[in-house]
Amino acid sequence: MSDCIFCTIASGAFGTEFYYEDENVVAFDDLHPQAPVHVLVVPKAHYDNIIDGVPAEVLSSMAAAVKAVAEKRGIAESGFRCIMNTGADGGQTVMHLHMHVLGGAPLGDGLIAK
Ligand code: AMP
Ligand code: ZN
Repeated sequence: MSDCIFCTIASGAFGTEFYYEDENVVAFDDLHPQAPVHVLVVPKAHYDNIIDGVPAEVLSSMAAAVKAVAEKRGIAESGFRCIMNTGADGGQTVMHLHMHVLGGAPLGDGLIAK
């Protein structure tokens, strides 16, 4: 989708720094961080959300990206939170599947990343 911001970022067109990249996904900093570490894991192909027929290999790459990000950003031991906001009630604002990885401080019980 040429008008999708995450398709464009994931294509590398903006020269964004990726913490992790493989054939299926990339991971990069959220523009408006909600925690000391706030990274987005984003498939290179466009899926609207987690119930949009996402192939198993893409889900596997997302899990590999989470592990790589947690280790690179030093939150693997302290812990972190993964969130996929889905649809209107879920507070999804960018309609390209993405997982928030939040950490670097105690996150408490509140809803994070909307
Ligand atoms: P959601 O509300 O779950 O759809 O989250 C969308 C996230 O994308 C928000 O946390 C935004 O801060 C983030 N975001 C929007 N545009 C960009 C961008 N150009 N680069 C990085 N993050 C972005
Ligand atoms: Zn897209």
